[in-house]
Order: sequence, then structure tokens, then C-alpha cells
Amino acid sequence: MSSDYEISDDEHEYYEYDDEDEEMVDAEDGSASEIEVDGFGNDFKVGVRQERKIYEVDYSALSQPEVERIMQADVDHISSIFGVEPPVAAILLRHMNWNKEKLIEKYMDNASAVAVAAGVELPPREPTPPPSKSSSSRGSMAGPQRTTRRLSADKGSDSKGKRASPPIDAEPFVCPICFDDSQTEFLSLLCDHKFCAGCWKEYITSKVRTEAECMITCMAEGCNIAAPDPFVEKALADDRETWSRYQELLVRQFVACIPHLKFCPYPSCTYTVSCPAAATKSSLTQIVPIVTCGASSAHVFCFGCPIDADHRPVVCAVARMWLQKCEDDSETANWIKSNTKECSKCQSTIEKNGGCNHMTCKKCKYEFCWVCMGPWSEHGTSWYSCNRYDEKASIEARDAQTRSRASLERYLHYYNRWANHEQSAKLSMELHAKTEKKMEEMQITSALTWIQVQFMKKAVDVVFRCRMTLKWTYAMAYYLAPGNQKELFEDNQRDLERAVEELSELIEAPIDPETIMSLRQKVTDKTVYVQKRNEIMLEDTAKGYLEGRWRWNTHVEGFDTD
Ligand SMILES: [Zn+2]
Ligand SMILES: [Zn+2]
Ligand SMILES: [Zn+2]
Ligand SMILES: [Zn+2]
Ligand SMILES: [Zn+2]
Ligand SMILES: [Zn+2]
Repeated sequence: MSSDYEISDDEHEYYEYDDEDEEMVDAEDGSASEIEVDGFGNDFKVGVRQERKIYEVDYSALSQPEVERIMQADVDHISSIFGVEPPVAAILLRHMNWNKEKLIEKYMDNASAVAVAAGVELPPREPTPPPSKSSSSRGSMAGPQRTTRRLSADKGSDSKGKRASPPIDAEPFVCPICFDDSQTEFLSLLCDHKFCAGCWKEYITSKVRTEAECMITCMAEGCNIAAPDPFVEKALADDRETWSRYQELLVRQFVACIPHLKFCPYPSCTYTVSCPAAATKSSLTQIVPIVTCGASSAHVFCFGCPIDADHRPVVCAVARMWLQKCEDDSETANWIKSNTKECSKCQSTIEKNGGCNHMTCKKCKYEFCWVCMGPWSEHGTSWYSCNRYDEKASIEARDAQTRSRASLERYLHYYNRWANHEQSAKLSMELHAKTEKKMEEMQITSALTWIQVQFMKKAVDVVFRCRMTLKWTYAMAYYLAPGNQKELFEDNQRDLERAVEELSELIEAPIDPETIMSLRQKVTDKTVYVQKRNEIMLEDTAKGYLEGRWRWNTHVEGFDTD
């Protein structure tokens, strides 16, 4: 969405007018004609992607094959340094969370220890005398590692007569998991723990499908030997879907290990975003890294935090604090307001659940009177003084109550505006769906072309986007410390809000063929103006982060407290 409606600065210098003089946009000074040189394409969007804005972050989107190529390069590198097969190098890298430097260092220090821990080498054998196992089990130890053809040949002779006392050495191998003696194909890893192909397939499928696990180890109890990719592929030979899910999990594991990569959080999307600028925690006090994955322009998410939306202009830490607060408070805030009081000693919220006015705080055990908030000790049975309004202790308690109520009122002020912008944005989208039909009809009845009736869609999109900005400005304002900077911030917020409300009203105006041309002019002009206000809001906030200008009224992760 973001890149679609950018206004080039050179073409729109004339919008730097005094914002008190908004009527000017509607004036027939010819300015607006500049933005509709030839219809749709130039109405709002000028040129291809512009230079990066101060509130935008540099990033690139990578498809799954692109990430796989990056992984393969690391694997090949390790494979050539260590002189191991690529599938082994891959297991070593996964084991070390793709930290190549650390892997090289540890491997150079003690290759065997790393290989054993990663499950690509058997642990050194204890020097104990060989256990007196049956000859058949020792026979299988010496057999081929992957598939035991010898055993499947035995099986053939076995099927003639069930358990027809075969020669002692050729006792058929039975899978120790399913005990199904009709199995003919057995697979084992380098540990030589054999299981039938069916059991392997079931086991790997369940790891991949239900546990989303891509580090597959041997099924034998206590065995840590890892399954290399070719083994997994062979076990899943007739289930390409699980095999590709496995490959996706490998990519996800890799991406999760690399700080400058993040997997797209949208369901069933396999794109990755690379954003080195936001790879460190400290960068998140300077930028709000909103990215789009590349698979769809609707896949907007924050690189720096788990919010799957554009939360500019507020930084990740503050956005998260706000959402957490809303989650904890909002549903109950109004209820709390009317049904509870805060303990005047410890401020914890107390709910009255009976007729008795003698309250005891669950947390600090303070006893007080529900009616006057004064300490209960002064309400002794002999002299009940609750009726005296100016009892000193009661006055103090009520003051504390007022302060606590004031903080709740303050929160609700911001929360209601936050929620309202969210709601209004949704409603304007719904409304637009209805309007769109009307516009299409109008295309037939008026001289307007399809391209010319698109101004309404543009305006609705801009309103939606700006309401999202406004929504988050309330989260930001809630945490901004009072002072000059906050006032400037709220001035920008007010200007944007006013412009958005005006445009909202315009787009809901009745449409008829008589006035459509003048409506179009007004809407187009106002849309450009609203975008400009949005730019100012976002730019100024972004600059403020870079300059360290914003002060918070509470401790915010990553910011200095002063
Ligand atoms: Zn089996
Ligand atoms: Zn094993
Ligand atoms: Zn995506
Ligand atoms: Zn974020
Ligand atoms: Zn208390
Ligand atoms: Zn009382």
C-alpha cells in the first residue's frame, strides 16, 4: 500500500501552504490540475519507487528458493573446509544454529566432540567386553547400513512356511517398533539401528507435520544420531508434500537463527524478509521497521516485533506496551470504573461483592470502609464516624482514589480514540464496497471513464491508512512525557485527524452525476492534503527518534531514562 500513493516532492511543493488555510485546496487556482495530467496514473502516484523516506526502512524480500541458495552456500563452505559431505555439513550448521564462525572455531578445537553432539558421529565406544547377544544381532551389525537387502532375501524364504525353523543365522529381522514380519525394507542411520521403512516414514511424518520439527534423530531409545537430508527424502519418497514441508521447516529454522532475517508471519506464506538495519535491539529505538514480504502487498508486518501490522509512528517497545495494556485493561476498564475501588494503601483494585462495607484488601490486608475509604479502625463499633465527610483519614483516602480514577480516565481517553480510528477505518472500507457499485453505474451514465472514477477508491485507501497512523499516535501520546515535544506531536496529530475527518465526510457524500466533477475535484485535493499531513506526522516522529527527541512518561525498553 505504502508505495502506491507517494507524492513526489517536486510536483507538490505547492502543498506547503499554511494549514489554517485549508479552503485553498478547493480554490480554482489550477493547482489541482497539475496532479491529473493524464488521469489515474498521475493522480497520486508519481514515478516508480521513490527514494526511501525517513520513516521507511531498507529491506529486501526473499523467496524460499533464494533463502535455500544462501543456506546452500554456507553448507558448501563448511563442507569444503571440514572435508565432509554436504548433508553432514548441513547437520553441523543446524546444530550450531547456523553460526558458522562458532562452528568453525569449535570444530577446529575438537571435531569429534562437535560431530558427536550434532549426531553425525557415533560416540566413542566404552571399553567394555562385548555383551553376549545372539549371533543374529551381531550379524545385522555387520550388514549394509541403509537397506538390508540380505534380510529381505531371507524374508522370501520365510514366507513359504511361517517360522519354519530357519537356519539359526538367517532368522528374519523383525522391525522392533511394529513387529510386522511382512516388512521387507529396512532403513538405518550410521548407528545401524534398523527399523522398517513404514515406521521411519510414520515417525518422520509425525515429527514434520505435528511437531514442526526438522532435526530428525534415530528412533532408537537414547540414540542421538541425526538423519541427513537424503535419508529423510528417501523415507518420504512417496510423500512429496511432507518432504516439501520438511524443506520449509529447514528454511524457517535457518531464518530464525539469523538476526537480519525474518519469516513472513502470514499463514502459509514462505517468504522471508532481510532487514539488516533492524537486526539489533538498539536499532529499534531509532526506527520502526515495517516491511512487506514480497508475496503479497497485504503481507505487512513489523520486522522488529510480533505485530503483524504497520504500527508507525510508534516504536516497537511502546507499541507492545500499549497492546499489553489494552489486553489487560480495556475490557474491564469501564467495569472497574463503576464497580471497584483501589486500596488506598497499595492501589490494588478491590471489588465489592457483598453488602458489608468493611473491606479488607486481599493484597496488603489494609482494612477500610467502602463508603468513605477511611481506615476501618476508626469505624469501631462504639463510634461509627463514616458520616463525617471531613474525617482526615477519609479525605486522604478519597484523594488517593481520585488520583487513581484520574489515571483510569486518562487511559480511557487514549484508548477510546485508538479504538475509534480502528473502527472507523473498517467502516469506511465497508462503505466503499457499496460506493464502488454506484461508481461503476455512473461510469455508464456520465462522461467519466473507469480511470476517472477511481478517485474514490484512492481516497478510501488514504483514509484507511491515515486512520491507522492516527490510531497508533494515540498509543504514542499516552506514553509521551508532557512538554513541548508532546505538544508539537499532538498538534500534528490534530491536523492529521481534522483532515482525515474532512475527507471521510467527503467520501460519504451522496454521489450524483450532476456534482460528480466537483466532488471529484474536492476529494482529489483533500486526498493529497491528507497524505501530506500523514507524511508530516510520520516524518517528524521518525526524525524525533533519530534525534533522540522523544521522552516517555515511563521506562521504555532500550531508551535511557532521564
Ligand atoms: Zn516397523
Ligand atoms: Zn540409532
Ligand atoms: Zn508473506
Ligand atoms: Zn514493531
Ligand atoms: Zn491494599
Ligand atoms: Zn466509612
